[in-house]
Amino acid sequence: MVNIKVDKTASRGIAVAPAYKYQEIELSPDTYIPGSVEEETEKFYQARDEVMETLKKLSADNEIFAAHMEIAGDFMLQEGVISKLQSGQQNVQQAFQDTIEEIAAIFTGMDDAYMKERGADVKDIGKQIMARLKGTTLPDLGNMDREYIVVAKDLYPSDTVKMDTRWVKGIITEEGGVTSHVSIMAKSMNIPALVGVKGILAHVEDGMTICMDAKNGEIIVDPDKTVLDEYEDKKNAYQQERLRLEQLRMQPAVTKSGKRVSLCANVGNVEDIRHAMVMNIDGVGLFRSEFLYMENTHFPTEEEQFAVYKEAAVLCPQELTIRTLDIGGDKELPYYQFEKEENPFLGWRAIRISLELKDMFKEQLRAILRASAYGHVRIMFPMIISLWELQESKKLVEECKEELRQNGIAYDEGIEMGMMMETPASVMLADEFAKEADFFSIGTNDLTQYILSVDRGNKKIAERYDSFHPAVLKAIGQIITAGHKEGIKVGMCGEMAGDSKAVPILLEMGLDEFSMSAGSIDYARELILNTI
Ligand code: PEP
Ligand code: MG
Repeated sequence: MVNIKVDKTASRGIAVAPAYKYQEIELSPDTYIPGSVEEETEKFYQARDEVMETLKKLSADNEIFAAHMEIAGDFMLQEGVISKLQSGQQNVQQAFQDTIEEIAAIFTGMDDAYMKERGADVKDIGKQIMARLKGTTLPDLGNMDREYIVVAKDLYPSDTVKMDTRWVKGIITEEGGVTSHVSIMAKSMNIPALVGVKGILAHVEDGMTICMDAKNGEIIVDPDKTVLDEYEDKKNAYQQERLRLEQLRMQPAVTKSGKRVSLCANVGNVEDIRHAMVMNIDGVGLFRSEFLYMENTHFPTEEEQFAVYKEAAVLCPQELTIRTLDIGGDKELPYYQFEKEENPFLGWRAIRISLELKDMFKEQLRAILRASAYGHVRIMFPMIISLWELQESKKLVEECKEELRQNGIAYDEGIEMGMMMETPASVMLADEFAKEADFFSIGTNDLTQYILSVDRGNKKIAERYDSFHPAVLKAIGQIITAGHKEGIKVGMCGEMAGDSKAVPILLEMGLDEFSMSAGSIDYARELILNTI
């Protein structure tokens, strides 16, 4: 039995379940002397056909797998492998790897964005067939059919989106901070999570029982009967606390002295909104539209996005703040090859991408505008550092409005256009931005990392990542003052908005809207109700 203390909780909850170690596996070709061409070819056919069989089952629910099947069965792949086996001394693993790399390079070298995207699919299929050729199995969080606590070095958003919430009871990672995207996603999915737990993989074997207390920061690996009983009590106590909080849900977020604030949810999809609506929210302060892009096999079209935004607007008519695509940094797209960057968080991300890929941006803006006919929809631009970026984005919205007008399509003419305040430049120019923007929303996750120059996902410096640092608090104060001077509402959608230590301070500073992951809403409401 091993007992590990963890200093920070990423997503609250208590869980007891067997461990599932999620680790990247080595897939480079083995160096064995090849058998005859026929024998090696047969190994290829067998591995490929096994993969095709699995894909066939999966393709009933998801079109991406049908596309993968086409790639696996492609003549070019088969011919490439066989011709290499016939012409050289290569074994099938080496011949297969070389062929996959050649085919992926053809796709990624194409100009057409859609064809480029297919390069990532080819590599994905390559990994699956290669694993079969090597006789190993690939870890896949989408394929689980039993309860588990996932233990990993790190998880990327592309891993977490695949998780089936019926089975995953908890998340423990060695890396990552509490504002890394895995933590945010865990919170929105209401899954207990502890991150930055150094060395946990060495203590855990697949299938070992884990007790995790993601409230007080404790992990017990391979517990004895006493601990299991204790955790049963903890689970019950946690349940009681949840019930007490649920009873407060119908009360509006008003302080004891009568200040009414908005209590909103951060969401990544329509399901999250449905989940948050139960908590009697005042609206959605942040719809992270990038998840719609990340869960797709291609850039979602205007129609596809419209369908989602409309459903969201109807579901939450009070207020739906849709943030335009905020990709880059640690958020990648499975179908788009980003160039490798030295500093991704300082690189080609968010509004910088949208203003360059204008057609794609306008598809999104038109979809948002069309949805605005169905509720109180607001547009929010991420990562703004200059007035030009904000003005250019607003100009594109006006162009889209004109296009819709000409086609007689309904939208809200007065749609509000606001911005994330998450860069030092936005703080320094807050006075000027307040004249251009209809609302501010403070993104403390990025603002903290940029003001302090501390990577939000790097556990090694997690101690230094502090949203209560005087420099960050001062920046927040300046943003609120600048916004209020121009009569615009100032909200916060960074994780700090749901931090129980921060809520009273932010109320005192005059913040108008608190937007947070669903898991924090009940706790924040209780705090607001108890604050003078
Ligand atoms: C933020 O930076 O605070 C924010 C809300 O955006 P994200 O976490 O998606 O970068
Ligand atoms: Mg951000």
